[in-house]
Amino acid sequence: MFKLSKKLNSLPPYLFLEIDKAKRKARSEGRDIIDFGIGDPDQPTPKHIIEALHQAAQEPSNHRYALDQGMPSLRRAIEGWYKRRFGINFNPDTEILPLIGSKEGIAHFPLAFLNNGDYSLVPDPCYPPYKGGTILAGGRPYLMPLRESNAFLPDLKKIPLSVRKKARLIYINYPNNPTGATAGKDFYREVIKFARRNKIIVISDLAYSEMSYDGYRPSSLLEIEGAREVAIEFHSLSKTYNMTGWRIGWACGNEKLVAALAKVKSNIDSGIFSAIQVAGVAAIEGPQEHIVSMRNIYQKRRDVLVLGLKSLGWQLDLPSATFYIWIKIPFKMSSIKFAALLLDKANIVVTPGVGFGKYGEGYIRMALTVPQERIAEAVQRLRKIL
Ligand SMILES: *Cc1c(COP(=O)(O)O)cnc(C)c1O
Repeated sequence: MFKLSKKLNSLPPYLFLEIDKAKRKARSEGRDIIDFGIGDPDQPTPKHIIEALHQAAQEPSNHRYALDQGMPSLRRAIEGWYKRRFGINFNPDTEILPLIGSKEGIAHFPLAFLNNGDYSLVPDPCYPPYKGGTILAGGRPYLMPLRESNAFLPDLKKIPLSVRKKARLIYINYPNNPTGATAGKDFYREVIKFARRNKIIVISDLAYSEMSYDGYRPSSLLEIEGAREVAIEFHSLSKTYNMTGWRIGWACGNEKLVAALAKVKSNIDSGIFSAIQVAGVAAIEGPQEHIVSMRNIYQKRRDVLVLGLKSLGWQLDLPSATFYIWIKIPFKMSSIKFAALLLDKANIVVTPGVGFGKYGEGYIRMALTVPQERIAEAVQRLRKIL
């Protein structure tokens, strides 16, 4: 009777089921688990942002439907942020669209542009909504492998002409989840050239632009000349301000692309809770010191983990952005087996690379959302079992 749609059935399987089950079981047995599986900041949202929500929540005018897809004050705050951070100017009314978290917009965007059977060019491994959103819109993901030999950048030259002709979208995500890789402006220029030549829309996911180390500061794809003709960029308060649970982000860029996403959304949701939008303005326009301390915390954790694993003979580099360490498994073993082994023998939870796509096989992802002492403890445990 309840026959699932073909679209739902063709979504990639949830591969973390076994490890989730094993993690719960280990916890219920009282084992001392160190969990590197969670891509969610462990630090709280800064106090002034919570205070802004607290005040705005008392205001009855904020209790009603938030129409117009984003308050003017939030749109202007985002406009100011892009100007300060990247030197890019936007019209806040037509080129910026607040979202209920950037995942929401990323997953809905393909509904605006894909017809049945159209391709999205999707990096693999990747953040799952790129594939999910494509499939739910009736499209087909065409996988662009991210290989270590190409610095985890897709090789656009390898995309066949027949695919380019049927491709409507290309997803780009740097700094990258799960590999921690970054991209320079040369790569962005190549993407824009490719997209203009093949009439493909570029979706840039910039969620990790502020989570970077050693003085490195990521660029926006929209800094590239001509980008605004073909690109939309997604950004979020989630990682920058420890606000993953709040659900607030935005899309910006080409006004036709922004308008199309707004039209899709007007049929699906009724905006972001106004008090959260007010708090979002407080986040973007308020004191920014905590970003510096956030970078310091993750950078120290990164150093403890990477240097610790290197001391075990594992081969890996220090990523210059994101809170992910992407690690080649030092033995011939599947990523699911290796993750299960680490949980079983060392009470350490990691994410198997294959969960991000087939080209993630052979790797695990460790998130730096664990205190420094616990990271050191995890390295000790690994030293013991290996
Ligand atoms: C965390 C993350 C986001 C942010 O998602 P929100 O829905 O804004 O919380 C977007 N893209 C990637 C790749 C992420 O890892």
